[in-house]
Amino acid sequence: MTAHTVYKEPAPIMDRENPLESMMSRFNIAAEILGLDDETYNVLKAPDKQVIVNLPVTMDNGKLRVFEGYRVIHNTILGPSKGGIRYDKHVHLDEVKALAAWMTWKCAVVDIPYGGAKGGIICDPTTMSVGELERLTRAYTLALKDVFGPDRDIPAPDMGTGPREMAWLMDEFSKTVGATSPAVVTGKPLVMGGSLGRTEATGRGVMVSALAALAKLGLEPTEVSAAVQGFGNVGSWAAKLLSEKGVKIKAVSDVSGAYWNADGINIDEAIAYKNVHAGRLDGYAGATLMENADDLLTADVDVLVPAAVEDVITEHNARDIKAKLIVEGANGPTSASADPIINEKGILVVPDILANSGGVTVSYFEWVQNRQGFKWTEEMVTERADRIMSDAFEKVYQTSVKYKIPMRIAAYVVSIDKVAQTYKFRGGF
Ligand code: GLU
Repeated sequence: MTAHTVYKEPAPIMDRENPLESMMSRFNIAAEILGLDDETYNVLKAPDKQVIVNLPVTMDNGKLRVFEGYRVIHNTILGPSKGGIRYDKHVHLDEVKALAAWMTWKCAVVDIPYGGAKGGIICDPTTMSVGELERLTRAYTLALKDVFGPDRDIPAPDMGTGPREMAWLMDEFSKTVGATSPAVVTGKPLVMGGSLGRTEATGRGVMVSALAALAKLGLEPTEVSAAVQGFGNVGSWAAKLLSEKGVKIKAVSDVSGAYWNADGINIDEAIAYKNVHAGRLDGYAGATLMENADDLLTADVDVLVPAAVEDVITEHNARDIKAKLIVEGANGPTSASADPIINEKGILVVPDILANSGGVTVSYFEWVQNRQGFKWTEEMVTERADRIMSDAFEKVYQTSVKYKIPMRIAAYVVSIDKVAQTYKFRGGF
């Protein structure tokens, strides 16, 4: 290849259940329960806008490589759209569409004034240099400069991205509008308008909703054990905060495998180990490597926290789950085919759109602070986020009792009802 040859990353084949179908099947059940009218149903079932961009990036070897990127705006009836950007080799348009819709439901369930969106780029960030990632992020921002905006669409981190990428995005966007625009993106570094409490916010919300669910089951945190799948931002913070409440974390996992310790893993130690071992747990001596990483999902624990990727709990392994409570830190970790099995087994599930909404809630606080030009204390952030999470949990729980439905469907009912009512008031079809 010459320096000018355009290399296009081939689109990967999705090897999981289609998350869009999983999302739609729950949406359909909730729409039926609510008696949603056809007009609103038809508006909500498809995204408002789908943008596909080709991003030419000069790689460190001097060659030009073209990456495919997406931004899907699912809905903006409740406010500007909000949602993260995912860098992963398995990014797929259907996945981004599902994730965008989940953001609409998530923001509605916690009652923050946002619609839903999601972005993604097909790339493998683990094999790219910092310079390549910066050029890719800037190219993506430039390509979407007319989509993003503090009152239009506000991105944030997701898998494979973090404060560093958000800083580049903010900088590139600010250049295009000719003014520093911190409120265009959340999850920024603290020094440039990030919010205290944002890094741990998703994991903290998982902890708050897990504790609320344990209370409904009549269980004390100090008498239960848990397994946490995924040891990235969400999983590691959820494990740390749950263990601080007295929950015994018997298993954690990351891409290197699953680790088990019946006496409880010292989470601070595991995080410290990961931080000095390229973000991975391989070789961690405080627990035993499980033969099969998926065994974590069916391990003998009371609480299961899937905090990695979509569709890990399926009809194939749901029957073997021993946990009484599942708290979904990831987006879409349970495929729709597993729902009936889980319900039949009587497992209480705090669904993703509720359990992991602490992240977007504190993103909202970041955006409010940026617009106010005033920084909140950590106590203000934490206290307000915890209250929002507990109120949302209670609302969903009561809805599940009222309609005699699982909490997952109840969360959709609460969200869709809010969006549908807003459509009625705003009118305009
Ligand atoms: N990516 C996170 C999520 O899936 C956060 C989104 C945001 O803060 O806008 O909820």
